[in-house]
Amino acid sequence: MKDRRTFTLGWGMALGFSLFAGACSLAIGLYVANARQHVGANYTALVADVVRAQQHPLLLRTTLDAMQEHPDHLHTDRFDSLVWRIPQHIEGVSHGLAQSQLNPDDYAPALEALSRASDLLPEMEALMEDGTLTEDERAALDELGYQIENELAWAYSELNDLIHVAAGEQRQVMERLGWAIGLLVLLALAVVGGLMLALLRLSHQRELVSRLSLIDELTGLSNRRHLLENAERLYQQSLRNERPLSLALLDLDHFKHLNDTWGHPAGDRVLEVFAQTLKEQTRQADVVARIGGEEFCILMPDTMAKGALELAERIRHQVAALSETALGVPTRITVSLGLATGEGSQADFDHLYSRADRALYLAKANGRNRTEMSTA
Ligand code: GH3
Ligand code: MG
Ligand code: MG
Repeated sequence: MKDRRTFTLGWGMALGFSLFAGACSLAIGLYVANARQHVGANYTALVADVVRAQQHPLLLRTTLDAMQEHPDHLHTDRFDSLVWRIPQHIEGVSHGLAQSQLNPDDYAPALEALSRASDLLPEMEALMEDGTLTEDERAALDELGYQIENELAWAYSELNDLIHVAAGEQRQVMERLGWAIGLLVLLALAVVGGLMLALLRLSHQRELVSRLSLIDELTGLSNRRHLLENAERLYQQSLRNERPLSLALLDLDHFKHLNDTWGHPAGDRVLEVFAQTLKEQTRQADVVARIGGEEFCILMPDTMAKGALELAERIRHQVAALSETALGVPTRITVSLGLATGEGSQADFDHLYSRADRALYLAKANGRNRTEMSTA
């Protein structure tokens, strides 16, 4: 009962753990799927583009300041270069943003500012076209330059912040992903280890159960079932090898009296000592079984009647010689034995058993503490 409870508890725990591991794997799997968009992003090129483009508002400012200082020099080449480079970089950055994993809603205001700056460039170009500037045109150029510079500076700074935040998130996600994968590996190892352990225990338990189902609990000898299994095997072996098979039936004398006088537990102890004597006196190949309360059986492969008789007598003398100390009761015990030997089809268990049983009956009838052999 206790074993069964432990068994059920073990399986319950295994099931609970498997469910827990499954839920963890699912959660990690969902997280990994969700994190993929961050993991796949590469912001390096975009950051480089934005940093390069951030030079433009500065260049525009220094060019306008230079014109303030030297009004007679227009710096047309520097303006031309900026008017040509600013839209190109805006286009490059827009393309980079569209390719990135960033949310378009987040960078839309910056793109609008860049677009506004881009739209003002042709006006600036038109003012510079004829190579000279009136006072009003100079003021208009200054104003235009100021607007473009502000739009560009604000937009690129916004984009820089946005990309840095996204890159930071990416780093964090990668770190968590590393932990999650480590955890997943540990869980997988634990599940596999746990399953192997459970299988090992199961196979041990199976082995134990099958062993116990063949063994007599009190004496540790084979039980009737094991005896019958072996009987068939030894019968076949005897047929094949044309060798004799002997069977001895043993029954303790006046055992009921011993039980009645010294109690059932004392009787049990005597049965254990008797079984131990049988084990000591028999060969490895012999099958020694307890087939009833105080009735035992020995199957002796490859043994002729003479050999069986010798063993029976040896056992009988050993049992009679068991001391009171060894038995644990202040008395002596004796045993009666019936023997039968057969060869070929005569070695069939049922046949041998009924002959040995008759011999045992004779041994009892003839005064007990003796061995009788079946002659037929
Ligand atoms: P006989 O010489 O004719 O064999 O007399 P007996 O008293 O041995 O024969 P019987 O078959 O009448 O009695 C067998 C007794 O064995 C009955 C029962 O009390 C006892 N017995 C059977 N199984 C066990 C057991 O497991 N433990 C103990 N202690 N006694 C048992
Ligand atoms: Mg009996
Ligand atoms: Mg008896």
